[in-house]
Amino acid sequence: MSQPKAISLISGGLDSMLATKVVMDQGVHVEGINFFTGFCVEGHTHAIRKRDQKKEKRNNALWTAEQLGIKLHIVDVIDEYKDVLLNPKHGYGANLNPCQDCKTFMIHKALEWIEANGFDFIITGEVVGQRPMSQRKDLMPVIARESGAGERLLRPLCARNLPETLPEREGWVKREELLGFSGRNRKPQMALAAQYGFTDYATPAGGCCFLTDENYSKKVVDMWQHRPSRDYELDDIMLLKVGRHIRPRPNFKMIIGREEGENKFMEGYRKQFISMYTTSHTGPLILLDGKDISTDDVELAARIGARFGQGRTAEQVSIKATWPAGETKEFKVSPMPPHEIDEAWYV
Ligand code: SF4
Repeated sequence: MSQPKAISLISGGLDSMLATKVVMDQGVHVEGINFFTGFCVEGHTHAIRKRDQKKEKRNNALWTAEQLGIKLHIVDVIDEYKDVLLNPKHGYGANLNPCQDCKTFMIHKALEWIEANGFDFIITGEVVGQRPMSQRKDLMPVIARESGAGERLLRPLCARNLPETLPEREGWVKREELLGFSGRNRKPQMALAAQYGFTDYATPAGGCCFLTDENYSKKVVDMWQHRPSRDYELDDIMLLKVGRHIRPRPNFKMIIGREEGENKFMEGYRKQFISMYTTSHTGPLILLDGKDISTDDVELAARIGARFGQGRTAEQVSIKATWPAGETKEFKVSPMPPHEIDEAWYV
């Protein structure tokens, strides 16, 4: 057989980097694949907030591929992913993260990719017992089966704890050169990284996507509860990543920029929402997201919004509201006193 070919699911974290390297070192041609669900922590989200701008901005998946010297395919799965998030067969994790279904989905997409591109097998950086939901030993064969990948799925970091797979049986990789990691202890990965000379790698704390985040998940639930359907667009889920979200009335919520980077990002949405900013003082950009928003609603939002600008203690603040079609109205309001802002309004 000519050189075997594998596709590796690259998340941008250490495990997928190591798993890829282990297989590359056995003479396999490896390329990377990364799926963009819209909830990824990677990429442009990092670039929004100004306070993060001193940190080096990089897409860790691209960076990992570059370190490994492999090609990376970034695949947009935003639409298909909706069904995974809305109807997860195996339910959610601690927050809105449907990890088991998500893994199964991504491996299934990788399988479609290898079939279309003449590759032989799939690599993931999964480690038995590392994460409670998707990396339990009893779930590993379920994910392999339900994704359709079956024996074409190789998990090089823990392969020796699992039944033999096709790449091992065919001699494309040697089982004895694969690893037997298990559990939550990260030391073996760190040691392997040191052995390979990988000193700089991403260590995502809660996971690779926003769905593991409690506050973000609450905002998604709030969005679903206040819309006729749970369907969403990329813009919806991007806007949940920025600003303070306050819902003073069921028919609308306010998105209040927390700093300059967020205000700038939100500017891009002024044609889709009623937007407001303070003209008498320095203040945040505010978007109103909702349905049948009345002038009274906008006035209430102006009073609340005034509280978040430099005019918070002033007697009167001028706020200009602009409707998507371009119509504007100026409101002169007194900022709402803090005790009147109901904690329950915070999404
Ligand atoms: S953390 Fe997010 S991207 Fe990662 S497996 Fe879970 S749901 Fe999928």
